[in-house]
Amino acid sequence: MDKNLVIGAGISGAVIANLLATKLDEKVLVIDKKNHIAGNCYDYKDKNNIMIHKYGSHIFHTNSEKVWSFVSQFADFNQYMHKVIAIIDGIETTIPFNFNTLYDVFPQTLAKRLEEKLLNKFEYNKKIPILEFQKQDDEDLKFLANYVYEKVFLHYTTKQWGLSPNDVDGAVTARVPVYLSKDNRYFQDKFQGIPLKGYTSLVQNMLNHPNIEVQLNTDFKDIDGDFNKIFYTGAIDEYFNYELGQLPYRSVNFKLEEYDFEFYQNNSVVNYPCNYDFTRIHEYKYYLNDKSSKTVIAKEYSEFFELGKNERYYPIPKDENNELYLKYKNKAKDLKNVYFLGRLGDYKYYDMDKAILRAMELFEEIAQ
Ligand code: UDP
Repeated sequence: MDKNLVIGAGISGAVIANLLATKLDEKVLVIDKKNHIAGNCYDYKDKNNIMIHKYGSHIFHTNSEKVWSFVSQFADFNQYMHKVIAIIDGIETTIPFNFNTLYDVFPQTLAKRLEEKLLNKFEYNKKIPILEFQKQDDEDLKFLANYVYEKVFLHYTTKQWGLSPNDVDGAVTARVPVYLSKDNRYFQDKFQGIPLKGYTSLVQNMLNHPNIEVQLNTDFKDIDGDFNKIFYTGAIDEYFNYELGQLPYRSVNFKLEEYDFEFYQNNSVVNYPCNYDFTRIHEYKYYLNDKSSKTVIAKEYSEFFELGKNERYYPIPKDENNELYLKYKNKAKDLKNVYFLGRLGDYKYYDMDKAILRAMELFEEIAQ
C-alpha cells in the first residue's frame, strides 16, 4: 500500500492526510515538531473550563459550501458571528468602520453630512479598502478618509506588521474595508461559527483514521524511509535550508492574564488601534459561552519572527518577499512528489477556510 508523509499536523496537513486515507485508502504518517496537533489552531480547556486559543482567536467563516460540508463532518459548530470592538479616542465602537462607527465617533450633524455624501457617491453595502477610500476629492470625505486611515489603520498596521499601510500589500488592509453598511459583523460569509468541542478536536477527528499515524515532537529531518509522496506544510525556506535567504514572517506573543471576575471586556476581541503596544485583547470565554466565575484574556503583541526564539504566524505580504518566495517555489517544482501547502508552505496569508480549500484542491489534482 502506498505510504505518504505529511509534515505538519495543522489544519492543512490534517485535511490532506484525511483525504489520502479516506478517499485513496493510502497510509499516511503525519509528523509535527510541536508537542500537539492542530498547529496554530490549537485550543485547550483550562482549569476554569475556558477554551483557550493558544495561538490567538480563530473564528471559522467561509462562503464555500464545499469547505463547510467538509469541515462539518468533523465538528458541530455554534452560530457565533464575530464582531470586533475598537477603542478609538476612548470611544467604544465597531470595526470595520461602518455607518454605526460614523455616528459613534462624530457629532450627529457631522456624521449625518458624511453619511449623505457617502450615500451620494457610493452604493449602500459597498466595501472599500482604505487605500482606495483615501482617493477622495470632496473635502469632507477627505477628512473622513484621513480620520479612518489614522485612527483605524496607521498605528494598528504599524504595530502588527512593523510597516505602514502603504508598505504592506494592499490586500492586507483590504481584509478590513470601510463598510458602507450597518452590519456590525467582522465577516459576511454565509457559514460562520466555532466548533463546539474546539479546533483541536476538529483536527483530531480528521486524523482519526486507521490509515493515519501521528508522531509529535518529530522533525522532518529526522525521518528516514521511502515515501510515495511528501506533503510539506512547514516553512518553504526552511525546507531548502534557507539557501536563498530567509523569508520574513511576523510572530505574535500572547500574554495571558486570569481574573477573578466574570468578564474583563464586553466582547471577545477589542482592538486598540491608537493606544498601547498590543494590537488587541482576546477574551476567550465568549466563543463557546464558557461558564466560569473567572475569565482569561490574552494581550496580543506582534513581533518579528526570529529562528529559535518564537513561532511563525504570518507571512509578510510585500513584493520583495513574494519574489523570494517565488524563487523557492521554482526550486520546489524540480522536486518529484513533494508538495507544499498551508500558510507557511505556500507563504500565503490564508484564513482557515482557504487553507482547507487549498489542501482539498491539491488532493483533487494528485488524485486524478
Ligand atoms: N487592521 C487595522 N486596524 C484594525 C484591524 C485591522 O489596521 O483595527 C489592518 C491591519 O493591517 C491588520 C489587517 O487589517 O493586519 C487585517 O486584519 P485582520 O483582523 O484580518 O487580521 P488577523 O485577524 O488575520 O490578524
